[in-house]
Amino acid sequence: MIIQLKDNLSETEKLAIKKKITELGYQSTEVKTQKKNYLICIGKNEVDIRMFGQLKGVADVHRVNEDYKLVSRKWKVSDTTIDLGDGIKINNGAKTIMAGPCSVESEDQIRDMVSVLKKNGVGIIRGGVFKPRSSPYSFQGHGLEALKRFHAVARETGMKIITEVMQVSQVEQMYPYVDIFQVGARNSQNFNLLSVLGEVDKPVLIKRGISGSIDELLQSAEYVFSSGNERLILCERGIRTYEKAYRNTLDLNAVPILKEKTHLPVIVDPSHGIGIRRFVEPMSLAAIAAGADGLMLEIHREPENALSDGFQSLNFEEFEALVNKVKLLYSLL
Ligand code: PEP
Ligand code: MN
Repeated sequence: MIIQLKDNLSETEKLAIKKKITELGYQSTEVKTQKKNYLICIGKNEVDIRMFGQLKGVADVHRVNEDYKLVSRKWKVSDTTIDLGDGIKINNGAKTIMAGPCSVESEDQIRDMVSVLKKNGVGIIRGGVFKPRSSPYSFQGHGLEALKRFHAVARETGMKIITEVMQVSQVEQMYPYVDIFQVGARNSQNFNLLSVLGEVDKPVLIKRGISGSIDELLQSAEYVFSSGNERLILCERGIRTYEKAYRNTLDLNAVPILKEKTHLPVIVDPSHGIGIRRFVEPMSLAAIAAGADGLMLEIHREPENALSDGFQSLNFEEFEALVNKVKLLYSLL
């Protein structure tokens, strides 16, 4: 059960609500986000929740039995829109594309790419500076200095940045230079990182874990939300199965399931999802058809020379062709 508290409730009213919860055999946790105050109540008893609605200081009450609660559509029926400012929004009807290199390589690369993105109406650029690589000997990203230059170009050109944060100690350093923090598949259940990102007033995109279930992804989102940050985006990026014909198994079933279970925007990353450049386009279109709110794509002027993930990065011509097909498909849906 979730009880939303009124903004102006008094301590006495709050105590009276908590007393009632305990009397009914429930345990409550107070959650204060950047927007609202809630009491999350856990208990086995069946109660008539209408009795809470009558208590002073209660704004709303709903029964949500799942392990995730505030991210559930049972709590909030309407879709959540993430407003990044300057007219750039996620899940506002116009489907969102986030595109850019796997890793930020140079300032020139970013400038060059921004012009392609802008020409195609894309307002969010992706690019990692801290890269989670399976081998410690692979390129690990150009780090914070590269992020500072990436950010300077983005500000100059009016673009928004999404980039991956790998550990708690990076959050504060990266904060001034990031518009959306990306939690990668390998950190999808790094609960310390998720809780710290809950205290930050910038949106967070959480990728599904390599072996993560849909339920686990939703619970990871609940960690961020219940730590204070309601501005969340979920991302399906493929899971590990027995199949070896492609890099990951892009689970497009997850899209309609997630859209039913949560009010948060759901983005699909077909680049990591299939990991083969020539199949990124059909899987992108399939993701849109499945109901995704947007796409995250890896692109590169010369994919064969990329410092990471070139084999799954679209070149600029392929990217432009895809954006045009995505627009066409949206107009039909
Ligand atoms: C990435 O976006 O470049 C990345 C490393 O993604 P994932 O965490 O999905 O592997
Ligand atoms: Mn990558």
